[in-house]
Amino acid sequence: MRAPVVASIGLGSNLDDPMAQIRRATAALAALPESRLLAISSLYRTPPMGPPDQPDYVNAAVLLETRLAPLALLDALQAIEAAQGRVRAERWGPRTLDLDLLLYGEARIETPRLTVPHPGLPERDFVLVPLREIAGADLPVPGHGRLGDLSPAEATLERIDA
Ligand code: ATP
Ligand code: MG
Ligand code: MG
Repeated sequence: MRAPVVASIGLGSNLDDPMAQIRRATAALAALPESRLLAISSLYRTPPMGPPDQPDYVNAAVLLETRLAPLALLDALQAIEAAQGRVRAERWGPRTLDLDLLLYGEARIETPRLTVPHPGLPERDFVLVPLREIAGADLPVPGHGRLGDLSPAEATLERIDA
């Protein structure tokens, strides 16, 4: 059996009641086999990246302790996206749910289906801010030092009051 690893997952939604989509996805992540949800960030309202003619996003991050292998975890994330009606159309277009594998412990992975750390992580405040909230500034980000070296000094992300 594999040793457990702490994976960081970024969640995003901007269609069909985004806050409910994120909550539902969190519950689905908590129910994954061989896994345990360790932490859930606040929800944040963020402007869309990519095509601007789409609603604002709700973003969050979770820490998941898991024994699933990286590609098995990606399969599970994509199954949850599909279960919540994700349709892939234009790049960075509106979606009911996006689940991105940000980090898998300290692993570096480069395969056709999976790149870890997620390439967008270093430059996206809507990823860095929720992740730092739950994992702290000392979280190692392979190839980039620690999370605190990447996070904006002053984040202007709008936190949603639950
Ligand atoms: P971005 O990846 O820039 O945030 P996106 O999340 O909208 O864009 P998707 O349509 O969700 O992109 O995913 C496209 C493909 O990215 C997936 O089919 C998946 O195989 C691949 N992929 C590569 N690395 C990762 C990762 N770390 N997490 C999730 N998907 C990944
Ligand atoms: Mg994404
Ligand atoms: Mg994605």
